[in-house]
Amino acid sequence: MSDEGFLTFGTILGLVGGFLILLFGVIEASVGVVILALGGSWVGVLPGVGGILIGIILMVIFLLLVVSDEGSETLGAVAIVLALVSLACGAGGLVGFAFAVVGGACAMAFSRENREVPYHPRKPTSSSSEAAPTAPPPSPRFYRGCVNCGTISPVEATVCPNCGSKLG
Ligand SMILES: [Zn+2]
Repeated sequence: MSDEGFLTFGTILGLVGGFLILLFGVIEASVGVVILALGGSWVGVLPGVGGILIGIILMVIFLLLVVSDEGSETLGAVAIVLALVSLACGAGGLVGFAFAVVGGACAMAFSRENREVPYHPRKPTSSSSEAAPTAPPPSPRFYRGCVNCGTISPVEATVCPNCGSKLG
């Protein structure tokens, strides 16, 4: 799978994971609300609310990863941490947790792959005085090249000094 396919795969898994954690959060919060309505403690609503928040944040993170791979390692790490926190909030029935962790790991792995690609980093602009001295262009009289061996000879030469071929 290509790097891009790898990231897409992880991003989709992460999105599904975030959605599952959100879904479980909604269910948990609903149950908590029912318990609250029946005279239970409002504390019972908290894990569900936590799951909803974590699920939403995870989905935002993986949506950001769809748009750009900028900071994907950080986003991937945050996603894994959030998935771990979601263990206290239902964790999307653990499937959501697992998907979010795999998605986060994919984002981090993609980022590492991406940095190994020799794309051109921004170079500091150097002034002309700092520029490396370039060799002066060879004199035009050396511009005759041998068609046989490629040796550059003085233009007045009639035979190649290297292989002896006649120079046109
Ligand atoms: Zn030659």
